[in-house]
Amino acid sequence: MAFISDRLARIKPSPTIAMTTRAADLRAQGRDIISLSAGEPDFDTPENVRDAAKAAIDAGHTRYTAVDGTPSLKRAIADKFARENGLDYAPAQITVGTGGKQILYNALMATLDDGDEVIVPAPYWVSYPDMVLLAGGTPVVVECDQASGFRLTPDALEGAITPRTKWLILNSPSNPSGAGYDRAQMAALCDVLLRHPQVWVLADDIYEHLVFDGFAFCTPAQVEPRLKDRVLTMNGVSKSYAMTGWRIGYGAGPEALIKAMAKLQSQSTSNPCSISQYAAEAALTGPQDYITDSRAVFQRRRDLVVAGLNACPGLDCPVPQGAFYVYPSIAGLIGLTSAGGTLIDSDEAFANALLDETGVAVVFGAAFGLSPHFRISYATSDAVLQDAMARIRRFCEGCN
Ligand code: PMP
Repeated sequence: MAFISDRLARIKPSPTIAMTTRAADLRAQGRDIISLSAGEPDFDTPENVRDAAKAAIDAGHTRYTAVDGTPSLKRAIADKFARENGLDYAPAQITVGTGGKQILYNALMATLDDGDEVIVPAPYWVSYPDMVLLAGGTPVVVECDQASGFRLTPDALEGAITPRTKWLILNSPSNPSGAGYDRAQMAALCDVLLRHPQVWVLADDIYEHLVFDGFAFCTPAQVEPRLKDRVLTMNGVSKSYAMTGWRIGYGAGPEALIKAMAKLQSQSTSNPCSISQYAAEAALTGPQDYITDSRAVFQRRRDLVVAGLNACPGLDCPVPQGAFYVYPSIAGLIGLTSAGGTLIDSDEAFANALLDETGVAVVFGAAFGLSPHFRISYATSDAVLQDAMARIRRFCEGCN
């Protein structure tokens, strides 16, 4: 319909949300459904954070705040960067939005002109290419396959850069692969970027604290200080403190960019929820044991899921460094037919047959730009994961 803009026609609804909705619909019809498609921790928000929110309401912190965050939250974020990342950002270099998602959106909207290119390594978080398209830019997808650990190599980065490249989006640990860049790998990418001063880096650090086996998280502005004046370091409280519904994310970078992003926000959503800002401040300044406790639980679940998937004929699941996702390959099933009679000719066919025949909802790899794979979010209980692994195994054993 012509009434809807051309701009909107360029993008599609989030496939992860679509899968979660489809699973919820089937459940509402009475089917026994296990949804491993949503990307959020299954834990409650820590008590000190909930208490801070209640206190904020009672103290009357229920009005508009500064558009891009209260001074005290910005101070807490600056302290977090200094404490955890060795990064020195002044409050004027920090902006707070309604989730990390808004920070990314603001950054792309505030900087992209028609035809500007953004390098997006695949598999990617589903929103990156569509946000680039909405902003008038061109996503330049670089496939990073399982053999390269789902990581962008310096050569592939070099080959993707053109005079029109404005951003590289780097997400470590990654949604959907869980792959993380160690310091040497990050430094090698930074070396390439030093040679191309037109390229900025959007570092999506939202899974910073979900790292396993002692993996040392690092972020570009910290690894290569000479790049810092063209890095936007993005992070948030959603995944680190089980606060997905509170909608607080933040970014730090050069003041001119931060100001431009705030200008955009001032004409769209204005400040993020005042109560959530007080809650986020409590999360960043209060006790941090939630982070270590949840990390141990997620590492155990990762191991359970990787072992479970690798016991399935036709599947091959590498061990990720972080986040709460695995991204197994279904290459060994392509061309086979499921017990229910579906030809597995793509990862989408696999995910649909798996849901129809076993009730397990996963997201197919094409949605993340790299096939043939699927993504499992293991942010759910061990018992549910064990049930899911048994169903997936039966499904794979039934393919021939
Ligand atoms: N980046 C990545 C890679 C994510 O997976 C998510 C959440 N799914 C976000 C950013 C946004 O998180 P939020 O808006 O909840 O802060």
